[in-house]
Amino acid sequence: MSIMYKSTRSNSEKVTASQAILKGLAEDGGLFVPDRIPALDVSLESLAGLSYQETAYEVMKLFLSDFTEEELKACIAGAYDDKFDTTDIAPLVKKDGAFYLELFHGRTIAFKDMALSILPYLMTTSAKKNGVKNEIVILTATSGDTGKAALAGFADVPGTSIIVFYPKDGVSPIQEKQMLTQKGENTNVVGIIGNFDDAQTGVKKMFHSKELAERMDAKGYQFSSANSINIGRLVPQIVYYVYAYGQLLKQGEITCGETIHVVVPTGNFGNILAAYYAKNMGIPIETLFCASNENKVLYDFFQTGKYDRKREFILTSSPSMDILISSNLERLIYKIAGEDAEQTKALMDSLTSEGEYEITEEMKAQLDCFAGGFATEEQTSETIRKVYDAADYIMDTHTAVASKVYYDKAAETGKKTVIASTASPYKFTRSVMNAIYQGKYDSMSDFELVDELNKISGVKVPEAIEEIRTAPIVHDLVCDKSEMQKMVENILGL
Ligand SMILES: *Cc1c(COP(=O)(O)O)cnc(C)c1O
Repeated sequence: MSIMYKSTRSNSEKVTASQAILKGLAEDGGLFVPDRIPALDVSLESLAGLSYQETAYEVMKLFLSDFTEEELKACIAGAYDDKFDTTDIAPLVKKDGAFYLELFHGRTIAFKDMALSILPYLMTTSAKKNGVKNEIVILTATSGDTGKAALAGFADVPGTSIIVFYPKDGVSPIQEKQMLTQKGENTNVVGIIGNFDDAQTGVKKMFHSKELAERMDAKGYQFSSANSINIGRLVPQIVYYVYAYGQLLKQGEITCGETIHVVVPTGNFGNILAAYYAKNMGIPIETLFCASNENKVLYDFFQTGKYDRKREFILTSSPSMDILISSNLERLIYKIAGEDAEQTKALMDSLTSEGEYEITEEMKAQLDCFAGGFATEEQTSETIRKVYDAADYIMDTHTAVASKVYYDKAAETGKKTVIASTASPYKFTRSVMNAIYQGKYDSMSDFELVDELNKISGVKVPEAIEEIRTAPIVHDLVCDKSEMQKMVENILGL
C-alpha cells in the first residue's frame, strides 16, 4: 500500500511523496510526515550483502512509493557515485571499541552531502511526475555548511537554479571560500549585511509572498526548499542506520537480530529522527543517544519533558549543532501525541509565543528509547585527544560530542554502538589541532594547519579542501538584509 504524507499541524488533505518533496513545508506551517512507517521487506540477514546504493533503494522505495523503480534507481545511481571518495559511500570503522559511521566522504566533507546529493534528483523527478513546467528555484539561508552542500548538489542540474544567502561576517573563512568558489551556471551566492536569523527571516518572507510567487510563475519560475525539514532530505538519512546494521553483520560483529545502540550528534534533529524511523522499520536499535553540545536544549528536554529555548545561545566549536529550535523534533512530538495535529500545533504555537512547551507524562513515557547526553567545549577537546591517543583516529568536533556521550553512557552497556560521524576533521581543522596540541599552532594559517593535520593523521587531504586553495572567487554579490527580495528579482530578471 502506498505511503501518503500529512501535516503535523492539521488534518488537511494528504499528498504523495513527490508532492511533499516539491512543497517542502505543508501550507499550514506543519511538517509532512508519512501516514505510517513501513516495515523493511527484506530480511535483516540479507542486509549484510547489500551495497549502500542497494540499501538506499530498499529503504527509499517504501517511503517514496509514488516513484517507479526505474526513477528511484536513477536518482540513487546519480547521487551516490564517484563524487564520493570511497565506493563504500559511508564506511563503518571500529575505533577503541566503538563503530564510527563516516558520513563525510561526499563533495563538501560533511554529512549533509548524503541527503543533498540525492535531493536534486528527487526534486527534478518529482517535478516531472507532477507536470511542473517551471524552473525550480532553490532558495536557502545558510550559517555555513548547508549552503555549500546545497550549491554542490544543485550545480548545473537542468531545470533548477539555486540562490544561497549567508551572513557576510558570520561564517568561517573556509566556509565562505567554499561557497564563493562554487562553479555552475545556475548557482548564486549572496552575502548579506546581517546575521543568520536575518537571512532566514528574509528567505521565509519570500517563500510566503503570494505576490512574488505570481510574478515568478509568469516568468516560468517557482521556489522550493532544500531545508532539512523537506522529507526529501529526511528519507535518504534513514538509509544510514539500515546500512550500518548490515555492515555490522557483514563484519561479523553482531548476530542477526542482536540489538545495537546509536549515538547521533544532534542539531536540528533530522539525523536522529531518521535513526528512529529506521528502528520503527525493524532495525534492532535499543537506545538512540541524542548528543548535544553546550546548547543542550534537547538534553534538558529528554531529562524533563520540557522544551525551553529561552536561554543564551552559545557559539561552540561544533557550530552545526548550535541550534535552540530543533525543527524536526516536531515530527517526534506528533508521533508521541498519538498523531494529534491539534495538540502538536498547540505545543508548537507555545514554543513560538512563550519560548517553551511541556509534554504530558503519557507522551514522555513513549520516549523510553531515547537518552540525552551532552559535552562541554572542554570535554569535546578532551575526547578528540583521547581517541587520537588510544586509536590514532582523528575525529571532528561534532563527532567528538557524540563520542563523549558514547564513553559516558553507551560504552558500559557492552552493546555494539554506532556513532554517526558527521564531518571530516579537515572541515574544522583549527579546533581539531587545538584539541590535540593545545594552542601550539595558534599562529598558523588555516591551510598550514591542513598540512599539519595531514602529517599527523596520514589521511589524504580531501579534494574539497585542495580545490579551494587555488580556486578563483566567482561570486561577489552582497546586499543589505532589507534588500534580499530585490536581489532575487535581479538574479531572475523579474
Ligand atoms: C547539520 C549537522 C549536524 C546536526 O544534524 P541534525 O540533523 O541537524 O541534527 C551535526 N554535525 C554536522 C557536521 C552537521 O553539519
